[in-house]
Amino acid sequence: MIKKKICMIGAFAVGKTSLVQQHVHSIFSEKYHTTVGVKIDKKTMVVAGRQLDLIIWDLHGEDDFQTVQMSYLRGASGSIYVVDGTRRATLEIAMKLKGRADQAVGLLPAIVALNKCDLQHRWEMAADDMNRLAEEKMPVMKTSAKTGRSVEALFQTLAGLLLEVS
Ligand code: GDP
Ligand code: MG
Repeated sequence: MIKKKICMIGAFAVGKTSLVQQHVHSIFSEKYHTTVGVKIDKKTMVVAGRQLDLIIWDLHGEDDFQTVQMSYLRGASGSIYVVDGTRRATLEIAMKLKGRADQAVGLLPAIVALNKCDLQHRWEMAADDMNRLAEEKMPVMKTSAKTGRSVEALFQTLAGLLLEVS
């Protein structure tokens, strides 16, 4: 059985925990429970006919009071950088975290989730932001942990990248 550790990384309240909950348990809650430290979940997936155990490390968010410890990334095979599409500042935070992660553990397969795409009326991402993201050369997917849109595809896409490099 192939096992791969991945990390959910981003600012606070962007939807890291909600994406994992939707993917692993098919549930969504409007309530916000801040993640303390790290929560680890497992999901068995089938990618191109191969079975893979994803060990998902859901890290707490980066904010003024808490810095994400790069030691959580040890042994990770890939990451999902989560951005809240309704809060532009969370894009900069995600890219700053990526810079730190690249320094700490080297370049790993990664993907960007532009989350909360159900809130189109509050969407703040503009063409500039999309260009900025394109420079990072990571796949970008618009997701909604609330409706479930592209959540399965998000994890499948990253899992596919992981198997290519294994
Ligand atoms: P985390 O701090 O990054 O783990 O964020 P959470 O998963 O705890 O979510 C923060 C808040 O945003 C919660 O109130 C969630 O219900 C809400 N939320 C998360 N994802 C979505 C989404 O895709 N759409 C909407 N409308 N709300 C979301
Ligand atoms: Mg959380």
